[in-house]
Amino acid sequence: MLFRYGRYLHPLMIRFYARCESEACGFSAVGQSELTHELCPSQQQNPDVQLPKSQDSLRREAAVTYRRQFEGRQLDMADLLEQA
Ligand SMILES: [Zn+2]
Repeated sequence: MLFRYGRYLHPLMIRFYARCESEACGFSAVGQSELTHELCPSQQQNPDVQLPKSQDSLRREAAVTYRRQFEGRQLDMADLLEQA
């Protein structure tokens, strides 16, 4: 199958075309591809583009937040020695 990009339907969706590699076959089709969830936020935000965060992204953020809170509660060795 040979794929050829068509045109953007909007900033997050593109229509593409495909055709069979066999000249004798003649099959061709049209499809579309869409970005649906954000994995990492842009450092150059486009106000026209707003995607929900992916589940992986939400889990990663939750893990970072949890780790920061946990690390904030941990005592370092100097604190432990002072308490002894
Ligand atoms: Zn074919």
